[in-house]
Amino acid sequence: MSEDAGRIDETPDHAGAYPRLSDAQVQLLAAHGVTRSKAEGEVLYREGDDLSDFYVVLSGKVAVVQNIGRAERLVAVHGAGRFLGELNLLAGQPMLLSAVVREAGEVVAISLDRLREVVSQQPAIGDLVLRAMLIRRSLQIEIGAGLCMLGSRYSSDSRRLRAFVARNRIPYTWIELERDSGAEALLRELGVAPDETPVVVWRGEQVLRNPSNATLAQVIRLGHDVSGGERLDLIVVGAGPAGLAAAVYGASEGLATVVVEAVATGGQAATSPLIENYLGFPLGISGAELADRAELQAEKFGARITVPARAFRLEHDGGHHVVATDSGETLTAPALVIATGAAYRRLDVPGIDRFEGTSVYHAATEIEANLCRGDPVAVVGGGNSAGQATVFLARYAGKVSLLVRHGDLGRDMSRYLVDRVERTPGVEVFLNTEVRELVGSGSLEALVIADLLTGETRRLDARALFVFIGAMPFTEWLRGAVELDDHGFVRTGGAVGSYDEPGPDGGAARPLETSRPGIFAAGDARSGSVKRVAAAVGEGAMAVRFVHEYLAEVGRNSSG
Ligand SMILES: Cc1cc2nc3c(=O)[nH]c(=O)nc-3n(C[C@H](O)[C@H](O)[C@H](O)COP(=O)(O)OP(=O)(O)OC[C@H]3O[C@@H](n4cnc5c(N)ncnc54)[C@H](O)[C@@H]3O)c2cc1C
Repeated sequence: MSEDAGRIDETPDHAGAYPRLSDAQVQLLAAHGVTRSKAEGEVLYREGDDLSDFYVVLSGKVAVVQNIGRAERLVAVHGAGRFLGELNLLAGQPMLLSAVVREAGEVVAISLDRLREVVSQQPAIGDLVLRAMLIRRSLQIEIGAGLCMLGSRYSSDSRRLRAFVARNRIPYTWIELERDSGAEALLRELGVAPDETPVVVWRGEQVLRNPSNATLAQVIRLGHDVSGGERLDLIVVGAGPAGLAAAVYGASEGLATVVVEAVATGGQAATSPLIENYLGFPLGISGAELADRAELQAEKFGARITVPARAFRLEHDGGHHVVATDSGETLTAPALVIATGAAYRRLDVPGIDRFEGTSVYHAATEIEANLCRGDPVAVVGGGNSAGQATVFLARYAGKVSLLVRHGDLGRDMSRYLVDRVERTPGVEVFLNTEVRELVGSGSLEALVIADLLTGETRRLDARALFVFIGAMPFTEWLRGAVELDDHGFVRTGGAVGSYDEPGPDGGAARPLETSRPGIFAAGDARSGSVKRVAAAVGEGAMAVRFVHEYLAEVGRNSSG
């Protein structure tokens, strides 16, 4: 894109982020919207605005800019046939960028409700728009649109906030007290003392001093408010693939459904750079995209997702299940799906805690990859997640060392990934190797690794360590409420030892039903589960079928 003597060129399409609608599509949308003339300099919307219209440019040029009125940066310029907006528009959240008319012309404004009607009849338009918005979100993450966060790299609250926004795929700019020369001047300008950091600046004006994750989520309106007290049919705990599938099927089949999620929608899958074995995506799909798509789909059918809200207690009250969350909600419904999944274990190396979140990660998404561009990094683990992370990080890092405790890369990793790891330039595999020590003051500089066959130790340069070893279920909060197996996974169906209340069909738990009637478990948290995205999605969908059966049997749903 170039700008000279007042003329401004349109930004070329970035891999589908800025597609042009066909003339017929523009005409169709124009017929459902209002055409407005716009003068040069007019602001169509600002960062932080709630937008209820979708804009299509008919003539003239519209610039999308970051930090409007401050250190303004041009992101893209759109001419006739292009549309404006970002993923937040579809999710009903405030805009992260602004749009300003740069060459006078006309735009069509279509209300989101009308847009949904048009899209339901013309899915090709919906596909084009959704794909563009998802790609625009990745570009926003790259440029750090939206939030500005300022703090010390050594602060645990900085780590907490950065991990929270990264998991929620919220674009942000990070200004580090130790590294950025302008950080102190910016703090003075904001009237913030260094000991009040980390701070989050929203819309360039609202300064949040060391906010909790919940406060930040509230300000940027991340999740839904579920405090309405209306009657629910189904509570889903956990919004990974299993929980989101249960929400899509539950809500689309008429159940009043609320989803409670502790950290971020998408669960483990959202931290996968590329899922290649999920049916229907021959080129693979990033976990983040899968999560964003599933979340929009669940919300389209009326499911409400509240984030961050961790379920910490489960009780029973007159045939209803009562879930208390750390966000202060108490939700009650006759049916419950537990989809709390699992998480990677922490590596048992002394002193690793001080590097968690700043140089030790349990996810390898664009956010972590951008933080270690050009650096040497190490990945620990021998499964598919470690293999995926290795291949993905090799695109960003200076060098990737894959450390595996056993001697056969093909033991736990799919063959296609083994081949890819072995063929990727910049990757070195260390078999029969374990991490003994992390070296560095403040941030990680190197690892001490040991060869388990010879006992020899050596120093390996690494500025970041990615850990993908064995999973543990998130089921502590269920102890005493439903039956768990010896490793803490939830027992269901035939594996249940004692079903609490015998039903009319002889008192056995249904498939996916726990020891407590009306409570089901799906996905990685379930004892005997397969630990795959497709399996979790399938179980989430299946659980809803048994929820219907249960509700019919006990004669309960929100309308009855
Ligand atoms: C890096 C990585 C790459 C992977 N790649 C692949 C792949 O390519 N193909 C494949 O098939 N599988 C892959 N997997 C495995 C796959 O992601 C999991 O099997 C799948 O995500 C399990 O889905 P789930 O919904 O059961 O649980 P999870 O994805 O673990 O989601 C559970 C959710 O519940 C939330 N939660 C937990 N406790 C609570 C609570 N008390 N209250 C509220 N919410 C709670 C969590 O925050 C989380 O969001 C990968 C996993 C990882 C980590």
